[in-house]
Amino acid sequence: MAFDIQKIRNDFPILKRQVNGYPLVYLDNAATSQKPQAVIDCIVDYYSHYNANIHRGVHTLSQEATDAYEEARKKIQKHFNIENAYEVIFTAGTTHGINLVASGFSEILRKADEVIVSALEHHSNIVPWQMLCEKTDAKLKVIPMNTDGTLDLSEYKKLLSEKTKLVFVNHISNALGTINPIEEIIEKAHAVGAAVLVDGAQSCSHIKPDLQELKVDFYVTSAHKMCGPTGVGMLYIKEEWGKKLPPYQGGGEMIKEVTFERTTYADLPHKFEAGTPNICGGIAFGAAIDYLNEVGYEEIQQHEDELLKYATKKLKEIELLTIYGDTPNKTSVISFNIEGIHPYDIGTIIDKLGIAVRTGHHCAQPIMDFYKIPGTVRASFAFYNTLEEVDALVNAVKKAKLMLT
Ligand code: PLP
Repeated sequence: MAFDIQKIRNDFPILKRQVNGYPLVYLDNAATSQKPQAVIDCIVDYYSHYNANIHRGVHTLSQEATDAYEEARKKIQKHFNIENAYEVIFTAGTTHGINLVASGFSEILRKADEVIVSALEHHSNIVPWQMLCEKTDAKLKVIPMNTDGTLDLSEYKKLLSEKTKLVFVNHISNALGTINPIEEIIEKAHAVGAAVLVDGAQSCSHIKPDLQELKVDFYVTSAHKMCGPTGVGMLYIKEEWGKKLPPYQGGGEMIKEVTFERTTYADLPHKFEAGTPNICGGIAFGAAIDYLNEVGYEEIQQHEDELLKYATKKLKEIELLTIYGDTPNKTSVISFNIEGIHPYDIGTIIDKLGIAVRTGHHCAQPIMDFYKIPGTVRASFAFYNTLEEVDALVNAVKKAKLMLT
């Protein structure tokens, strides 16, 4: 499909709405993406025509729902170039996937063990590991960050040792947009025998990771950041880890046999999928992946790069405006502040002009502490945004600045 921005925008009904009397300019894509008609139709079709529980019924509807759900699993497998479909675990999202792995490691880690996190993480990729360390007495070490929003890899190398059991790092920072060198991080961790979990919540709408090439052990993401619905995501779990880690939750679907004396667990992926899953969400996740591939990741990257460059240049022209994490290796996220103005005030005023941005710490308080700020205004662009919308943002920020100084 040729990249026709108007045609793409027509796929997203919400982009036609007005907010406070102005056309909606949706620049909060790092929080959640908007949904194309193809995904909305998929959800309506499921509930209108074949809603049923899966993996358990012999009736036609159950069979149709099961087939569609397993088809979606295969789409995810293909999309991320995962060797086996059973290494794809449906989750409720990134947070769920990380907690699943952290919970499993509570049975593996010992007192003298160490785990490494990066300074650039979302709270979802910090708190579960802190809880794990409290439980196991393992030690949490932190890869420091540089002022430009990149990680200090020379310090990372110093942190690694034979005590390191697990490294967890995001692919792309939600607060700054930095693309982390996960290839190198994974290689160095594996060299000391540590496993690696990559938090791909922010990456999968911008890039298409090849998980076999990355040789990563765990990769997690959320469908809602990729034009899919909320409440569903995926955990890629390398087969050997899938066998090694204990189940996360007990219940229906995750068992082979249950007696009051003993229960045996199902094989992958069902071992980690207790209870009735988000069936419709899983199927719609597949539809979202189809949609993104139809638009094309190369085209998405080119367009978003253009938006990022233009917005960065225009915002930098505003006096007293600071962009945080201004590294060349980043995606279309711009976090900024204007000296003397609270980010919340800018966000509130520009909302009155129809512009949706996120303000605050973006669930990444350690990054805000590093820069000694309470938070930022974050504009995050998607492939359906336009240069005109960048202009609307810049003009609105200028107006807000005038009003607030
Ligand atoms: N990790 C990163 C980098 C994120 O940006 C987010 C959400 O913004 C999460 C984890 C948590 O994702 P979810 O709330 O979908 O579980």
